[in-house]
This record gives sequence, structure tokens and C-alpha cells, in this order.
Amino acid sequence: MSDVRNVIIIGSGPAGYTAALYTARASLKPLVFEGAVTAGGALMNTTDVENFPGFREGIMGPDLMDNMRAQAERFGAELIPDDVTAVDLSDEIKTVTDSAGTVHRAKAVIVTTGSQHRKLGLPREDELSGRGVSWCATCDGFFFKDQDIAVIGGGDTAMEEATFLSRFAKSVTVVHRRDALRASKAMQERAFADPKISFVWNSEVAAIHGENKLSSLTLRDVNTGDVSELPVTGLFIAIGHDPRTELFKGQLELDDEGYLKVTAPSTRTNLRGVFAAGDVVDHTYRQAITAAGTGCSAALDAERYLASLS
Ligand code: FAD
Repeated sequence: MSDVRNVIIIGSGPAGYTAALYTARASLKPLVFEGAVTAGGALMNTTDVENFPGFREGIMGPDLMDNMRAQAERFGAELIPDDVTAVDLSDEIKTVTDSAGTVHRAKAVIVTTGSQHRKLGLPREDELSGRGVSWCATCDGFFFKDQDIAVIGGGDTAMEEATFLSRFAKSVTVVHRRDALRASKAMQERAFADPKISFVWNSEVAAIHGENKLSSLTLRDVNTGDVSELPVTGLFIAIGHDPRTELFKGQLELDDEGYLKVTAPSTRTNLRGVFAAGDVVDHTYRQAITAAGTGCSAALDAERYLASLS
């Protein structure tokens, strides 16, 4: 079975490239499907990354990902900028099909397909990403010292982001489309007690304004249709994430929110020889460094699994 690979990695963010680096250095010659449009993962869409250890002045997201990619390639990872369109993971030899219909076979598969933050779907949202518009307070909050910020959403994440941002911000306005929050009682109470946080109820964002930087939002009352302007230089969108797990439904176990389930603290899924790492598994931390960390764990788990076969 000369055409059977040791390991195929699906996804190319910090988790995928780290898994590629480790498996390449273990002489496993990994084949990595990076994705057709979004090779490099979520950090390709951001500017400064100041919290990835090792870069004392920070580093631009795309540069960090180029470095990770080149490092994996240097040790022999084979990288293909294409989407995986189908998988069959149940047997000892797994198959992975690319967009041209070519079937690739491997003894182990590492899934690192990440998750997609939900967008408002408004014009200028993407252009102003990294220029005032963000989906991650832990990542970007520091850039918004003494500024006026809006947080969109009413769940736990939105309250957590608002409370975290109030440490830096001049003001935080939570905009929610209902008249009550979905967040847990404790999170709500913390937010209500914070003098810097105010709430605009029954409202949604109708437009995002700003040329090179965010300058304001138009809000629309969902009941009356009335519009108002909210001058802010920060917009944190906290309306949820969708893990990219469509491909694996019916084969790998997913939790209620569609994330891949692993046997913690390992990266093992319910199928032998299939491992998962990064944001496709992670509800909680969602950082480049944690994705890279679990990518490393998945590589080591795969390496041990392959060793157990021989
Ligand atoms: P991702 O980076 O999402 O990568 C997943 C990859 O899988 C993508 O390349 C995708 O194309 C590929 N893929 C998906 N499906 C397929 C398929 N079928 N076939 C082939 N490939 C596929 N974190 C920080 O620590 N610091 C920051 O400053 C920071 N800033 C951020 C700014 C923004 C705008 C965003 C969105 C996130 C930011 N994060 C930051 C979070 C961080 O980017 C993520 O936690 C991290 O990228 C997750 O890594 P991952 O490898 O799990 O997934």
C-alpha cells in the first residue's frame, strides 16, 4: 500500500500548521489540506497579533501564518491549498477526497478546520475588520484604551467581552436585539453592576461607518424601526461561532453546538486514528496559542497511534 500516507491534516490555521510541523519533524511526511480560499486560517484576516509568545513587538497575522507555514514546509510537510470535500474515517485506512475528486488515503487524520465567527452581514464589516471591528476582546481589547466601544449580542460571550473591555474602554454599549439577555444570571449581574457598561435594548446594527477606521454605527429599533447613531471606534461582534464540522457529521461525534468531541485531555475523537485540535474542538479559549498547543498534542497523539500499529 505504497500510496497510503501516514497522516493527513485537514486545515491550516495555527493548529494545522503546528500539527504539520511536529509530524514532519517526526518523519511522518504529512499531507496538509490548507483550504482553497482561507489557507492560513483566521489570522489571515487580522492585523497585529500581540499575544503570540516569541514576538516581543507583535507580528502581523498573515506574517505569523506565513512563518508557521514555511517552518512546517522546511521539515517536509506537503501543503496543498485545496478544500477537502469528503472523508471516510471509519476504517483503519481513511480516505480524504479533494475538490478535484482525487482520493487520498492515510492511516491517521488530524482535523483542524477551525470555526467561523458569525457575522452581522453588513457592508464594511470585513473591510473594517482589524480597524475597529473585532470578534475577540482577549485578542484586541488592549488596542481600545479609553475608547467608546459597542458589543453586539446578549449571551455569555457578549457579557464576558463587555466586562473584559470595560477595563480598558471609556464606555461599553451593549446592543441587543431583545429586551432581555440570554447570558447566565451571574454574568448579567456583573455587567449590570459595571458603571462603564450601558445597554441599548431591542436594537440591531443597521450600518457600520468609517473610511479606514470605524467611526460610528447606525442602530435600528427592531420594534419601531427608529434609527439612531452611536459614535464608537470599537465594535465587538459576539453573536456566536460555527465550528466547521459539516464534513464529519455522521462519522465523528459532535456536541450540541456542533464542535468535535475529543477524549480530554487527549485529542482522540470517537474513531481510532482520527484526532482533532484547535477551534473546531474549543468552545472556551479560542486563541492562536491554544490552537497551536492542541495541534502539537494531536501530532504527538497521531505519532503514538502510528507507532502502535507497527
Ligand atoms: P483556523 O485558524 O480557523 O484555521 C482553520 C483552517 O481550516 C482554515 O485555514 C480553513 O481554510 C481550513 N479548513 C476548513 N475547512 C476545510 C476543508 N474542508 N478543507 C481544507 N481546509 C479546511 N487569537 C490570538 O491568539 N491572538 C489574536 O490577536 C487573535 N486575533 C484574531 C483576530 C481575528 C479577526 C480572528 C477571527 C481571530 C483572532 N484570533 C486571535 C483567534 C485565532 O485566530 C484562532 O483562535 C485560531 O486561528 C484558531 O486556529 P485553528 O487552527 O483552530 O483554526
